[in-house]
Amino acid sequence: MKITEKKAVTISYTLKNEGGQILDQATTERPLAYLHGVGMMLPAFETALEGMTVGDMIKPVLSAADGYGLREEEAIVPLPANIFAEAPAEQMVVGNTLHMQDQDGNPIPGTILSIGEEEVVMDFNHPLAGVDLHFEVMVLDVRNATEEELAHGHIHGPGGHNH
Ligand SMILES: [Zn+2]
Repeated sequence: MKITEKKAVTISYTLKNEGGQILDQATTERPLAYLHGVGMMLPAFETALEGMTVGDMIKPVLSAADGYGLREEEAIVPLPANIFAEAPAEQMVVGNTLHMQDQDGNPIPGTILSIGEEEVVMDFNHPLAGVDLHFEVMVLDVRNATEEELAHGHIHGPGGHNH
């Protein structure tokens, strides 16, 4: 069975950056199950998997633009240090990710770039923004999604949702 829209797809994968550093992975013991063609995955990733079958192994390379986007200078924001007065000291470390809120109260993760007396500079770019994504994907299973899975928009069972 080939991977097409609304198939339940189980994969193992390794994601590396240009330098070969492993950024993320799903092993064959703990694979990832997803519903193909509903926008769960990066569009370019789904395009690469389209038409593949069980046992296929592919190594798609997604440019940063096709991945998590390019890094934007506007996403690097100096904030007044006093708004961090309540933050636990162990959280206030350069490189640490804090969960902030945007103007509308939506949670938005940001990474601390620098900490000064007056201001704290936060980087709200996605951690993988500006990174070319080197995937190695093995197709472990392809089946038709159940009616329930289609209604939920995700896959149930191993590698998917358990509820
Ligand atoms: Zn569900």
